[in-house]
Amino acid sequence: MDLSYTDEELAFRDEVRAFMRDELPKEMSDKIRLGEELGKEGQEKWHAILNGKGWLAPNWPKKFGGAEWNAVQRHIFEEEAAAHHAPRIVPFGLSMLAPVLQKFGSKEQQDYWLPRILDGSDWWCQGYSEPGAGSDLASLKTRAVRDGDHYIVNGQKTWTTLGQHANMIFCLVRTDPDVKQQEGISFLLIDMNTPGIEVRPIILLDGTHEVNEVFFDDVKVPVENLVGEENKGWTYAKYLLTHERTNIAGVGFSQAGLNTVKRIARAEMAGGKPLMANPHFAARVAQVEIDLKAMATSNMRIISAAAAGGAPGVEASMLKVKGTIIRQEINDLARRAVGPYAMPFASEAIEGSNEALPDPHEAGPVAAQYFNNRKLSIFGGSNEIQRGIIAKVMMGGGK
Ligand SMILES: Cc1cc2nc3c(=O)[nH]c(=O)nc-3n(C[C@H](O)[C@H](O)[C@H](O)COP(=O)(O)OP(=O)(O)OC[C@H]3O[C@@H](n4cnc5c(N)ncnc54)[C@H](O)[C@@H]3O)c2cc1C
Repeated sequence: MDLSYTDEELAFRDEVRAFMRDELPKEMSDKIRLGEELGKEGQEKWHAILNGKGWLAPNWPKKFGGAEWNAVQRHIFEEEAAAHHAPRIVPFGLSMLAPVLQKFGSKEQQDYWLPRILDGSDWWCQGYSEPGAGSDLASLKTRAVRDGDHYIVNGQKTWTTLGQHANMIFCLVRTDPDVKQQEGISFLLIDMNTPGIEVRPIILLDGTHEVNEVFFDDVKVPVENLVGEENKGWTYAKYLLTHERTNIAGVGFSQAGLNTVKRIARAEMAGGKPLMANPHFAARVAQVEIDLKAMATSNMRIISAAAAGGAPGVEASMLKVKGTIIRQEINDLARRAVGPYAMPFASEAIEGSNEALPDPHEAGPVAAQYFNNRKLSIFGGSNEIQRGIIAKVMMGGGK
């Protein structure tokens, strides 16, 4: 195991830094730094910039138009992107659906859908969760019944992130209700503009419209939109979830967030001294920084093993739990650092309006981010579920 970068990796890091400096539009990084939403147009613009450089699909094989970076290169890119306040890539098409199509899709599906993901023709969303089927995903009920050369889909998905922007949704549907739960599920690609689909917003704690409910009422889906074999969808769904958990530790985001906390706490006065000089506050900052450094080292250790051909198993669960605890603690410290300035909770701040913001300027989105990031310990497999996995592997014997 070698935790230091090779000369080649350092050269790659310089290349990424230069790209971020020259190609990342300042108005975009300002928005991300201030916690404002980028919106669909902004997100598509960033995707197009990355695609122009051939860096939009770091994890795809070259034969599909990807960069085919190894784990260390991906890690370097993610670190630099976070440090430069670059937008995150919307993952649904690029890092969730694409690997499934590349492994299990037909040649026709690969030829048609993959280039459309790269050039932004399609915006995908993920239709897995349902009311009553979140952690217990295999109990999902949305039904698809074969009728000639179509499936007829009825049911409901929920928590569909950015479904309001999407023109396509990949869905887990029940095609056989009479077998063991996992054996009657299929993986369907559904056009969101098909008659019978209704998208309803769910407004989150921070006032944003980020997730949705999606209803299906006799929705006709061509059979060629079935991925792989009927009733084998659970295998593909699980394969996709291993890709959902990439960059799970979020070291770069936490480091950027911690820098902001320190900047605010050095400027804010408490009892006549900068807040950073308050022993209680400084101790919390120090503790989270220690935790972050320890996690960054574990992250590099796991990445180093992955680059050498090992597959992260239970380690991904450990990074998910620790990474999200750290990010939420940093959000809490930021909220405490701006103190009463966080109180107005200006949702316009995240939407980037020109309305007057509470001072200091950075305070605007702090409360909103604190509330929004409650989600981190829920999605991508809740932290309780991850702890269950860790306990089973560590104490129950075997992976
Ligand atoms: C902001 C946000 C965005 C999301 N985006 C999407 C999306 O785009 N597409 C999509 O399909 N889904 C999405 N999800 C859904 C997400 O995957 C689920 O919320 C998650 O799987 C948890 O399921 P649940 O909400 O039904 O909670 P439940 O499964 O009902 O769990 C409720 C609580 O019980 C705990 N719990 C449940 N089972 C166990 C157990 N066996 N052991 C210990 N504790 C347990 C959980 O940890 C949780 O605290 C999103 C969720 C959020 C919050």
